[in-house]
Amino acid sequence: MALAFDEYGRPFIILREQEKKSRLQGLDAQKANIAAGKSVARILRTSLGPKGMDKMLQSPDGDVTITNDGATILELMDVDNQIAKLMVELSRSQDYDIGDGTTGVVVLAGSLLEQAEKLLERGIHPIRIAEGYEMASRIAVDHLESISTKYDVSRWKRSLAEIAVKAVLAVADLERKDVNLDLIKVEGKVGGKLEDTELVQGIIVDKDMSHPQMPKRIEDAHIAILTCPFEPPKPKTKHKVDIDTVEKFQTLRGQEQKYFDDMVQKCKDVGATLVICQWGFDDEANHLLMQRELPAVRWVGGVELELIAIATGGRIVPRFQELTTEKLGKAGLVREKSFGTTKDRMLYIEKCANSKAVTIFIRGGNKMMIEETKRSIHDALCVARNLIINNSIVYGGGSAEISCSIAVDAAADRHPGVEQYAIRAFADALDAIPLALAENSGLPPIDTLTVVKSQHVKENNSRCGIDCNDVGTNDMKEQNVFETLIGKQQQILLATQVVKMILKIDDVITPSEY
Ligand code: ADP
Repeated sequence: MALAFDEYGRPFIILREQEKKSRLQGLDAQKANIAAGKSVARILRTSLGPKGMDKMLQSPDGDVTITNDGATILELMDVDNQIAKLMVELSRSQDYDIGDGTTGVVVLAGSLLEQAEKLLERGIHPIRIAEGYEMASRIAVDHLESISTKYDVSRWKRSLAEIAVKAVLAVADLERKDVNLDLIKVEGKVGGKLEDTELVQGIIVDKDMSHPQMPKRIEDAHIAILTCPFEPPKPKTKHKVDIDTVEKFQTLRGQEQKYFDDMVQKCKDVGATLVICQWGFDDEANHLLMQRELPAVRWVGGVELELIAIATGGRIVPRFQELTTEKLGKAGLVREKSFGTTKDRMLYIEKCANSKAVTIFIRGGNKMMIEETKRSIHDALCVARNLIINNSIVYGGGSAEISCSIAVDAAADRHPGVEQYAIRAFADALDAIPLALAENSGLPPIDTLTVVKSQHVKENNSRCGIDCNDVGTNDMKEQNVFETLIGKQQQILLATQVVKMILKIDDVITPSEY
C-alpha cells in the first residue's frame, strides 16, 4: 500500500494487493481495508487542533483551496478507494449532524482501525473486536455525559465566535430551542482585514442598482420581488412579424415601450419604491426605469430572493399580473455601499420587517482567506446552534478523550471475555486525539500524554488536556476550550459505527481490470 500524489498534488492511495488480485478474502480483506482507512486518517491527523497544518488542494480546473477543515479536505481529495470513501462519508455525516469535529472523527476512526489491526494479528476474531468496540463506545458516551457541564452561550467572546453567537441568537427561537441557520447569510468580499468582518442586521446582496443614476439610499422601501422577466415580452422565434415600412417598425417599438411603461406604472400603482428582479433588463428598459424614478436591482439569485422575501416579509411574485400591494416586502433602509476605490458595490437591505434574517459579512485579503473564514464561521455557527439546542459541554484539548480512555480501560477489567482486549484497545485508540494535538503543537506526544493522564488520575480532574497554545495551564476550563457534548458523543458513535462496518467485511471483490 502506498500513498501517492497525482499531477495536481492530490493524494491518492494505491493498494498493491488489489493491483494483482480481483478478490481479497478473510484477513487479507480486513488488512487491506484497514490500511486504506488508516491512510486517510493519517492525512487528516496533522490538521487536527489549533496548531493543525493547512492543506492546499488544487482542483482540475486550477482552483486552489487552502484549508484545515477535515470535511473540506476529504471532499476535495477525490479518493478512489471504496473504504477511503467511507471515511469521507464519515466526516460528512459528522458535518451534517453536528457541523464541527469533522477532523477528529476521522482521526479517531483511523486510530480504532490501527488498534483493531493489532488485535487481528493476535488472532482475535473481527466480530469479537466489533462487539468489544460497541461496548466500549457505549461506556465512553455515558462517561462523557457524566463529565459534562452546562454552558451559557452568551458568555462567548472572541471576535468571529462572538459574531457567530450573535447571529445565531438573532435568528434563534429560544422558546422552542430551534435555530434555522438558513436565515443567516454568509457573504464575503475581498478587501479590508479579517477584523473588519461584521454582522449586519439584514441582508447583503453582491449587486448594485441597475443604473448609476438611481438613488443610492432608499428609506422605508417597499420592494417588489420578481422572479418573472421585467421587460416587454420578446417575440418568439417561430413567429414571423413582417416589418416592411418605417411606420410599422415604429408602431411595434411604440407598443413595446408602452408595454414596459405600463409595467413600471403597475409597480408604482401598487406602491413599490424598489424592484428586485431575478432577471435582467436591457439598457433601454434600464434608462426608462431611471427616468420614471423606479430604482431596480437585476440578476439577483433565487436563494437570495427567498431570503429577501423572508426578511422583508414580502412575497416572491412569479407572474407580473399577480403583483399586489400586500406582496411587497418592507425594509426601513436599502442602501448601496461602495468599497475601496474600485467600482465594487453591494446592496444592504436593513431594518427589515422580519428582523430575523442577518448577514455575516466577511472581509479578507484574498479569496482563499475568505473561503476558509466562511468554513470556520460555518463551524462556529453550528456549535452555537448546538449549544442552544443542548447546552451541555465537555472540555476540549483531548481532555474528554483522556477521561473516557481511563474510564473505558477501567471497565475492561469487568469483562471476563475476549471483548476485554477490544475494550482496552478502544481506550488506547482514544489517546490518538491528545497525542495528535500534542504532536501538532510541537510537544513530545507520549511524555505529554503521560503527564496529563496521571493528572487526571491523581487530581481526579477530567478537565486536563493538551496545552497546545502554550498558555501555561492545561486545565481546559481555564483556557475556555470546550466542545459540545452531543458533538463529542456523535464523534465516538460515528467512528465506532464505521470501524465496525469495515471490520465486518471479509470479502472484497473488485472488477478484474483492477
Ligand atoms: P475538527 O474538524 O475535528 O473540529 P479541529 O482542527 O477544529 O478539528 O480541532 C479540534 C480539536 O482541537 C479538538 O479536540 C479541540 O478540543 C482541540 N482544540 C481546539 N482549540 C484548542 C486549544 N486552544 N487548546 C487545546 N486544544 C484545542
